[in-house]
Amino acid sequence: MALEVGKICKLDEVVINRIAAGEVVQRPCNAIKELVENSIDAGSDSITVSVDDGGLKMLQITDTGHGIRKEDLGIVCERFTTSKLKTFSDLRSISTHGFRGEALASISHVSFVTIQTKTAFDKCAWVGHYRDGKLHPKKPGASAEPKPCAGNTGTTITAEDLFYNMGTRKRAMNGRDEFNKVAHVITCYAIHNTGTAFSLKKSGDNMPKIRTTSKATKIDTISNLYGPSLGKELIEFSCDDKNFGFKSSGYLTNANYSGKSFRFILFINNRLVESSAAKKAFEAVYASVLPKNSYPFVYLSIHIDPQNIDVNVHPTKNEVHFLHEDEIIAGIQAKAQQTLYQCSTSRNYYTQA
Ligand code: ADP
Ligand code: MG
Repeated sequence: MALEVGKICKLDEVVINRIAAGEVVQRPCNAIKELVENSIDAGSDSITVSVDDGGLKMLQITDTGHGIRKEDLGIVCERFTTSKLKTFSDLRSISTHGFRGEALASISHVSFVTIQTKTAFDKCAWVGHYRDGKLHPKKPGASAEPKPCAGNTGTTITAEDLFYNMGTRKRAMNGRDEFNKVAHVITCYAIHNTGTAFSLKKSGDNMPKIRTTSKATKIDTISNLYGPSLGKELIEFSCDDKNFGFKSSGYLTNANYSGKSFRFILFINNRLVESSAAKKAFEAVYASVLPKNSYPFVYLSIHIDPQNIDVNVHPTKNEVHFLHEDEIIAGIQAKAQQTLYQCSTSRNYYTQA
């Protein structure tokens, strides 16, 4: 018997957008990362994050950035709307490649979004509510237009009831694990972006779980977040290579420090990413200086010519591939090894003297 041949239909646009959004925003921490990057792009010197149930019930971020113009509030959550792309060649840079105008749109397809914002040129702040990329009345029958309200220059974005329309995904997550992942993202961005004060709290709590200041140095910030016993064992690291077109810098713990797990924070072109190859390279370096089951802390920031990077390995853009990856990692590895050895010899010399 012949099988019935199904008619091919185009999916409804809301469904298409929701599927795409669900790939970009897989968990609360993906949303937080995008929102934090937006706040940094807006020139904020202070970023305050508050979450309920690990961000599943509510996540909110308040910044002191330049704000959003009132006339842009109608399209700000639509897909592919951005103020950051100026020329076509900007598209090639990692910071403007992956999510051009997709983050807010994605979040608004999987949660209820409220944006309150004020620029330095506005007399008052404006607030709008969004659903599926568009302004949406807060109450049925009310106007969807943004309303004036009191507020400081900067932006507060609130996302409520994340994955309300993706029940299976929501049920597979729990607030405690999600909070830890959110805290990790904030920790990493706070270390990378010294000059911006960060805080993270659970809604209802008085005291933030994380609080950094804008005047603190990188070492101070790392000590604040990971404890002074780690902070006092940090050594500065840098490695550049014109041939392969990269610059890197960071902080590593020396051989005196031994942690319970390997803490590896990697930023490539100011974006928090994962690279198993880079992580393995550092594991190998420390295998020769640390006892078994002791692990280091490594914070590394690499700047690579954006043309040499492919960020489209994964929809969340957490993983990247780049040209000359093996050579660049090998170069950084060799320099890290040398830095560690130099540090331990100067230490021995110091103790003997
Ligand atoms: P992208 O960052 O790729 O431009 P987003 O969806 O993340 O796309 O944001 C869309 C636009 O909304 C940005 O280009 C920016 O103009 C504006 N925007 C988003 N968040 C903020 C913020 N916190 N402060 C100021 N402007 C913002
Ligand atoms: Mg963005």
